[in-house]
Amino acid sequence: MTTEKIHGGCLCGAVTYAAETVYRMYLYCFCSRCRKKSGTAHSANLFLDTQYFQWLSGENHVINYRLPDANGVTNCFCGTCGCRMPRVTEKGVSIPAGSLNTSPHAGPDKCIYWDSRAPWLPSREEIQKVADS
Ligand SMILES: [Zn+2]
Ligand SMILES: [Zn+2]
Repeated sequence: MTTEKIHGGCLCGAVTYAAETVYRMYLYCFCSRCRKKSGTAHSANLFLDTQYFQWLSGENHVINYRLPDANGVTNCFCGTCGCRMPRVTEKGVSIPAGSLNTSPHAGPDKCIYWDSRAPWLPSREEIQKVADS
């Protein structure tokens, strides 16, 4: 079986990774914790089995902040530039789609925690589009 590879990394270039496009799912999450972690209206994470993920550089540069009293809630980011980086556990990997250098070659499966979305979240149609600025 051949699968397409995706590549990603942080802004400063210390951390890079590759993965295969065999996702379990691709979710946009609108929960309040994901807003905090991402600094924006929602997270966009690709989930896959650990065997399909590979650090290429800087794995020891990634800080895993575990939220006290919230089992499993972790924020993983580059220790130098602060970019969100993949979270790797034995059970699987979540890749923040915004950290990719390439297309994920897939669209999101669904939006979760939609009822928790920020009250200030406008529809995309309402926002002025500017090609380059
Ligand atoms: Zn970095
Ligand atoms: Zn969330």
